[in-house]
Amino acid sequence: MSLTVNSNASTAPFVVAFADGDMSMSDLMGGKGANLAEMTRIGLPVPHGFTITTAACRHYLTLGREPDDLDHQVGIHLAQLESTTGRRLGNPADPLLVSVRSGAKRSMPGMMETVLNVGLTDAVIPGLVARGGERFAWDCYRRLVQMYGRTVLGVDGELFEVALVAARREAGVLSDTELDAASLKKLTTDFRRTLVNEVGEDLPQDPREQIRRTIDAVFSSWNVPRAMTYRKHQGIGDDAGTAVNIVEMVYGNTGPDSGSGVCFTRDPASGEPGVYGDYLPNAQGEDVVNGSRTPLPLQDLSDHAPAVYEQLMGHLRTLETHYRDLCDVEFTVEDGTLWILQTRVGKRSPAAAFTVASAMVSEGLIDLDEALRRVDGYQLESLLHPRFMSAEGELLLATGLAASPGAAVGEVVFDAQKAVSQAAEGRNVVLMRTETSADDVGGMLAAVAIVTARGGRTSHAAVVARGIGRTCVAGVDGLVIDLDARTAVCPGGSIKEGDTISVDGTTGKIFRGALAVRQSQVAELLEKQADDGSGAEQPEPVAGSLAAAVLQLLAHADHRRLIGVRANAETSPDALRARRLGAEGIGLCRTEHMLLGERAVLVEHMVLGDESDRAAALADIEELAHTDFLDILRAMDGLPVVVRLLDPPLHEFLPDLTELSVEVALNNAPGGTPDPQAARRLAGVRRWHEGNPMLGLRGVRLLTVVPELIEAQVRALATATLELKTAGMDPHPELMVPLVADPAELSAATARMRGAIESACVADGATLRIPIGVMIELPRAALTADRLALDADFFSFGTNDLTQTTWGMSRDDAEGAFLAEYRESGLLDVDPFMTLDDVGVGRLVRIAVEEGRRARPDLGLGVCGEHAGDPISIRRLVSIGVDYVSCSPPRVPIARLEGGRAVVLAESQATP
Ligand code: ADP
Ligand code: MG
Ligand code: MG
Repeated sequence: MSLTVNSNASTAPFVVAFADGDMSMSDLMGGKGANLAEMTRIGLPVPHGFTITTAACRHYLTLGREPDDLDHQVGIHLAQLESTTGRRLGNPADPLLVSVRSGAKRSMPGMMETVLNVGLTDAVIPGLVARGGERFAWDCYRRLVQMYGRTVLGVDGELFEVALVAARREAGVLSDTELDAASLKKLTTDFRRTLVNEVGEDLPQDPREQIRRTIDAVFSSWNVPRAMTYRKHQGIGDDAGTAVNIVEMVYGNTGPDSGSGVCFTRDPASGEPGVYGDYLPNAQGEDVVNGSRTPLPLQDLSDHAPAVYEQLMGHLRTLETHYRDLCDVEFTVEDGTLWILQTRVGKRSPAAAFTVASAMVSEGLIDLDEALRRVDGYQLESLLHPRFMSAEGELLLATGLAASPGAAVGEVVFDAQKAVSQAAEGRNVVLMRTETSADDVGGMLAAVAIVTARGGRTSHAAVVARGIGRTCVAGVDGLVIDLDARTAVCPGGSIKEGDTISVDGTTGKIFRGALAVRQSQVAELLEKQADDGSGAEQPEPVAGSLAAAVLQLLAHADHRRLIGVRANAETSPDALRARRLGAEGIGLCRTEHMLLGERAVLVEHMVLGDESDRAAALADIEELAHTDFLDILRAMDGLPVVVRLLDPPLHEFLPDLTELSVEVALNNAPGGTPDPQAARRLAGVRRWHEGNPMLGLRGVRLLTVVPELIEAQVRALATATLELKTAGMDPHPELMVPLVADPAELSAATARMRGAIESACVADGATLRIPIGVMIELPRAALTADRLALDADFFSFGTNDLTQTTWGMSRDDAEGAFLAEYRESGLLDVDPFMTLDDVGVGRLVRIAVEEGRRARPDLGLGVCGEHAGDPISIRRLVSIGVDYVSCSPPRVPIARLEGGRAVVLAESQATP
């Protein structure tokens, strides 16, 4: 029978018993509640309890009060809990105590509140003493006063910590576990006095009132600033609300045969098999995660209580098989009896994501499509990040637990605020703390790495760092921070704020100074594998299985993807690298890169020089271009290479107006020597000077001023192609016209280009067909795509400029000026220059794709903006239906992976 009472049958229930729920109900029960229900359903030892749903929380958050009959419903469920557990709230002989636990649909570790031992009052102390002894009873009580005071009454938690430190000092002990019953009893009294002093209110002596007030506090904790910051960063919506789980207490603090732990079914840092976790004897669960004592490895439990350990291993296997994924688990042992208090699919490092997904395919738990769904391009990107070159002979400051992999160099800061302010100035900072709490998250986001003196691999610091992809070393032995002096002592020497250190999250080592970094092993193996033409090569164990996992999933992505992947490159080393990483062509070769720097003077001569200057410059340009094209076509033999005509504003090739003006002014001043040459150049530069070069004389518009330049480029490409063909190679050049707004511009350009190709062929007596396409980077081009398609073999969307021209903002100016504020204040969710703006820019792309294809069914369609290497954008582009994306060479594997994922994700959404 369901006890859910509903005032209105059509609305979601406000309370669901664990026995009535399951894991599919996380919208309503939150992740924690749904999984507690699921574990109850599959017979794991979960304490009894029920969930007050997110629907009730939303009601509370919108109307500022609980739903009318919530209290009544909770009362019914509490009565039910009393009858199943055989314990009653407030019963002096054998009281029921509960935990009141937050738990949203998407886990927000440590962001919201949980209060343990709720229901404990003066009256029931005897019952608790009977259950676990004097010391245990007062330990529970002081914890309740502490947590209730902080969470419900808003008393500063520091006050309790200070009292605890004093109590330990007085008793001459190092940890809370060593405090005896008398000290704990006194602490309880002191804590309660603190409540009265601080907020004029004592702990209520009615268990039900304690529960009621705590539920409200948990609801409200949804909107504390740190939770809001976390949601913003994680892209979690603000209106989901949290559920509240009411769970019968089990006690890990009754003595040496009790304890609490947190573990993962596999190593969440490397993904390697083997249980991984922390355990604290004689402790309540919060002690393990808050870092107040450094926990023991799980192995200790197996030595100390082998039967309990075996049972735990059995449950972990059950959970992995049931969830078909890596799980993390909270458990408590009360006098030798094991209880599971929480599970969820565990957060993991990017390396672990690949390793676990691939291993689970081998174990037959999931198929390759599912494995592909479980990794993403952002994770792959972080795996391709560099590592430290060699730590050999470097000055080792300290060693801790490798909590989140990576290699980072930065200046030490000792508090989160400093981390944020220093990072805002563009510095790389390493946040070093004794331990972290939810209040440090802002600083952790700002830091390149996090180091903590205390806490295990499941501590707050470790979990958050892995989630946000920061390097982290936790539990550093011998690290003592002096916050007042802004210094820290490490086993390898002392450091002060501002010192540069290098943090290796893969080995747990911390070095003084800035270590040199090198490419990631995965990236190296990816390239090497291409060189061998096979996955041969048996690499070292850990990196080896990771690289093998990445290769396997990339191969499956290639097998599944329909979209092509090309690279943007203009030099043969870059092109070759892209090819090794799996690029199927060059989607954008920017010829201006070939003419900048020293060669810019040639363009200057073309524009400003006289007849003979022009002729000489033109010949030089054509010859240089010929050599460059030979190089890149050779590197990409057999694959398409899209060469874009000269694009940037003309002034980039010309001398700086201000500098030249100053020079001429000095020449003409008394004492100077007038220089007619300089004066002439100045006149020329003035003539071409533009107030807004981004929207000025560039792209196809250059044709009106320097048509010969464009002809020279095209001729150089044609002759290079012919030369390679003669040599028996297989070049596939394509030509692309930038910044076209109108079909007339395109046909004028096309006519010139065809003429130039023709003339190269005539000289050679050959025929050559080079496809000519148009770069779509102006809204007008997208909106007149049907007409442009008539003259174009292909479109390539230059989404960088298309974003600038659609939004009417210059990327560089906007990023320095107001984009950050836009995001901060919520005016913009994401940076449209990073992630394709689906409704605006995306809409233009869709229009151009549809109309272009309608006008010309065999029209080729590519994308060559930076969005082509951004995971979310790639998925959008796949759904728009372009043929290929072209990104920077290092991002090629990311595009391959996301190209495949787009297909399997779309399939799983189509058939839920
Ligand atoms: P969080 O979401 O921050 O992990 P939890 O609600 O899981 O918060 O609770 C905090 C700690 O208290 C955890 O270690 C948990 O295992 C422990 N805990 C929660 N409920 C109980 C209970 N009924 N009995 C014993 N320990 C509990
Ligand atoms: Mg928990
Ligand atoms: Mg452009």
